[in-house]
Amino acid sequence: MKTNRIFCIGKNYAEHVEELAHLGYKPDGECVVFMKPASAAVPIGDPIPLPKGRGGVHHEAELVVMLTGGGADIPVDEALGAIAGITLGLDLTLRDLQTELKNKGKPWELSKSFDGSAPLGDFKPYLEQDLQALEFTLHVNGALRQHGRTAEMLYPVAQQIAILSRTWSLQPGDVIFTGTPKGVAELKPGDTCVLESAAIGRFEWQCA
Ligand code: ZN
Repeated sequence: MKTNRIFCIGKNYAEHVEELAHLGYKPDGECVVFMKPASAAVPIGDPIPLPKGRGGVHHEAELVVMLTGGGADIPVDEALGAIAGITLGLDLTLRDLQTELKNKGKPWELSKSFDGSAPLGDFKPYLEQDLQALEFTLHVNGALRQHGRTAEMLYPVAQQIAILSRTWSLQPGDVIFTGTPKGVAELKPGDTCVLESAAIGRFEWQCA
């Protein structure tokens, strides 16, 4: 299935919200929703084109789901039926720019939605695996940076789908980045990123 719209959920792991508190990000118990264009996707095998001269680019390792569709106003207890596949991805973020935009009360797009900002692994069919009992890791140049446990999500995947479907009629190929655990940090050209989950697979990219 071809990737359609890319939705992202922010502030979905408490420890990640806390690690950004020094930048003025306040935990308020509410998730954030934003979008990336289709041109943000970076498939396996392509280099990640890091933006240059625009401040630090942070990795955010995330569980990603693709939808079969689902339409509007999906009830939480039916939401998992709209999932076609699962994978891992990176929600790349120009963190210095995001902080500046946020502090000015401006939208995040310039810091979150640039071309190449969404490296995406290959999708594996969703076979009713328990999405809230998965673990995943991100290693950069062999060193562990992030270790996610989806049990710690503030908004489980079913709830995310229900929330999005109140605003958008969900279509086949829509993709959701489900939020990042703690451990976000900067990427540099030449870095090797490996996203891995026993239940999903292993995906590797090189930063350019
Ligand atoms: Zn994110």
